[in-house]
Amino acid sequence: MKVFGTEAIVLTSRDYGESDRLVAFHTADCGKIRGIAKGARRSRKRFCNTFEPCSLVSLECRERNSLYWIEACSLVEPYLPMRADVERWAYSALLSEVVLEMVPDGEPQPELFRLHKETLDRLEKDRDPQNVLIMALLRFQFHTGYMPALDACTVCGRALKTAKKWYWHPGQGKLVCPEHFSPAAGYTAVDLGTLALIHYSRNIALDRIWRLRMRQDVKLPLFRGLLDWIRHHTGKEIRSLKVIEQLVPSMAAGAGRREI
Ligand SMILES: [Zn+2]
Repeated sequence: MKVFGTEAIVLTSRDYGESDRLVAFHTADCGKIRGIAKGARRSRKRFCNTFEPCSLVSLECRERNSLYWIEACSLVEPYLPMRADVERWAYSALLSEVVLEMVPDGEPQPELFRLHKETLDRLEKDRDPQNVLIMALLRFQFHTGYMPALDACTVCGRALKTAKKWYWHPGQGKLVCPEHFSPAAGYTAVDLGTLALIHYSRNIALDRIWRLRMRQDVKLPLFRGLLDWIRHHTGKEIRSLKVIEQLVPSMAAGAGRREI
């Protein structure tokens, strides 16, 4: 089998057998893959510090029977300033979890990889890392096809501009007008301006998405809505959320859910 190279982001890494490491990557050319680094624990020099989660690496491997054998791996960007800031680090870990759970193995999706890579860059330097994560998760929803058009009521087709307040169910991918809203778990109230911003964010160039800023009072309910969406589709709790709840007081478990 021929050796090929690709840029990749490390998702997880664990010991495997006597002397190997099993590493999950989000790659530019092959989508999400799992690779085996033979002898990585015996010879630390060969893969020196390259399997740290959320690092950007340059990978060389060969594929055999859906398994990837890592020949070489070199560090491109360790995102050290991001690692030094626990909140930013927790957001990048959350994104890794989302990719790990929601991106199918072995399906190349270059746009999704670019989104992941740019999000890590932004999480490192943007003044508002929570806004970065929200924009990234919204864009992720568009790419994976879970996001409804958000331009009319899913039930009656009523146009967006005919009502000021709407109700979004991220888990079910529904947007309903006040007439078709019934108080139930999972709904997030969204104002017209925020919906317009979300709508706008789906089609603009990726490098411009970071300039969009969610209103301060909108961010938290929207973030919670997006987390509900992740839970709904993975059927699992989000491990890194526990860290975020400890770091960001407004995210603490049990803190009142506010409407947008
Ligand atoms: Zn309706």
